[in-house]
Formats: sequence, structure tokens, C-alpha cells
Amino acid sequence: MIKAKKKFGQNFLKDINILNEIIKTIPNDQNKIVEIGAGLGDLTVHLLQIGDVVAFEIDEELCSFLSNRFKNEILNNKLKLICGNVLDIWKKDQPLLENNYKLIANLPYYIATKIIMNGLEDKFCKNMVLMIQKEVGNKFLAKSGLSDFSSLSIIAQSVCDIDFVVDVPPTSFEPQPKVNSVVISFDKLNLTDEQNIDQNFKEMLNFAFLQPRQTLYKNLSKVLSQNLVTEIFDTLQFNRSIRPHQLDIKDYHQIYKILKRHKS
Ligand code: SAM
Repeated sequence: MIKAKKKFGQNFLKDINILNEIIKTIPNDQNKIVEIGAGLGDLTVHLLQIGDVVAFEIDEELCSFLSNRFKNEILNNKLKLICGNVLDIWKKDQPLLENNYKLIANLPYYIATKIIMNGLEDKFCKNMVLMIQKEVGNKFLAKSGLSDFSSLSIIAQSVCDIDFVVDVPPTSFEPQPKVNSVVISFDKLNLTDEQNIDQNFKEMLNFAFLQPRQTLYKNLSKVLSQNLVTEIFDTLQFNRSIRPHQLDIKDYHQIYKILKRHKS
């Protein structure tokens, strides 16, 4: 019997109802399916019924188990199994595949945010249906005004439609994690290069949310000149006591426009 390894975030999904919810949410298109962290292959087996799969798995022991379990699918090129750390392959500014794909995964929680950020940036990644820690999921789903509304919410919601799919309790896994989980779907919007977000926009958000309980005015004043911060607040008619989570996404895009104008 294979023992779950904590260091790889191994919590195997055993709840067939949750598996069905994930499958139901997968978009019906011809794009390839990518799975990160195939584990024992219990999700992979369902994914193979929908289309061709490229699966990544870091754990050598699980990799040889999967090679054996999916011998035929690998031989028939239905499944490409890549053994190794997905983040060694999926580096910044590099696509994971050279064709459009959808990412479906019960993610290892210790790298979930990094993987989602890569997926948001990768132009070939068109959709994601992901199981992640509930607390992290709330940050991606949060709307303006909620305390969870953060740079993650703004980045993700600027480029995707994001939907809650289902809550998942620890009892759905073997072994059980200490935290609650959630399945979320991300569908990329059709954006022009102009509308897409860039590195400087992300940097601006990092400054805006530097101290989330502080006022936006104070956070921005730490990195921008007083004149510029005043111009932003006057032009956009923001109250100086506003906190970073109280603005909405379009407000942040407006701030960025002003900053870009100043740089050029
Ligand atoms: N898909 C399986 C399931 O639903 O039961 C397993 C999910 S388990 C939460 C996460 C899986 O990701 C584990 O099999 C783990 O070994 C694998 N993993 C962890 N870190 C990884 C990495 N950096 N690259 C590829 N796979 C990784």
C-alpha cells in the first residue's frame, strides 16, 4: 500500500460526489486536459473519459504506480505522464503546453497560489477547475468591500470569470487535511493585449495592499510622490479614508491609467 506523503501535500480525494461535481464543471471543448498532481489517478481516470490528458506527478513512487495503472492509455497516447516537479517546467513567462488547454486538479495546497497565478498568466490556459484550501479560495472569489478582497481577487477577476463550485469537508479525503477545501472554476475572458494585466499593475496592487488595514492613501504615499497620490485621489474623487478593499476592480484600473500616463 502507498503511504501518503505530507511533504508533497498528498490528500487523496475519495468522495465520488465531489469528483462528479468537478467533472460536471469541466468545459465541453476540444482543448487538452492538464492535471497537476495525479496522485493515485482517481481523478485522472474520469478525465480520460473526457479527453486526452497530460498529467504531472512529483512523487516517484506514485509515478510508477500511475505508469502501471494507465499502461494502455500511455501506450495509446491518451495520457502523457510527466514525472517531476511541475514548477521546474512551468517557469515564469513560459507556457505549460504549446496548445490551448484546461487545467483540472486537486492541487497540493503548498503551491496552489503559485500554480493559479501561472495559469492566469499562461495564454494557452483557457479554463481551470481547481480544488484548493477554502481560505485561499475565498481570496480569489471575494468581491469589493469584503475583507478578503485583495490583490489576488483583483488580478484573477480582471482576467477571468470565477465561480464557486462546491465546498469540500476534510472527510472527503484520505488522509484528511486539517483545513476545509473548495472547488472553484476560472474561465478566461477574451481580452485584448491592451486589456490584459501586466507586471506593473500587479506591483501597484502589492503597494496598494501593503498594509490592508491601513488607508489606501497612506499605502500609496509610501511609494509615490505626495503630488501624484493627491492627483489620483482628486481625479477619481476617492475619499482619503478609504481602505484598499473598499475600492472596486475598475477603480484600480483607473489608478493604473493615471500612473501609466505619468510614466510616459
Ligand atoms: N489528484 C489526486 C487526487 O485528487 O486524489 C491527488 C491530489 S493531492 C492533493 C496532490 C498531488 O500533487 C499529490 O499526488 C502530490 O504528490 C502531487 N504534487 C505535489 N507537489 C507537486 C509538484 N510540485 N509537481 C507535481 N505534482 C505535485
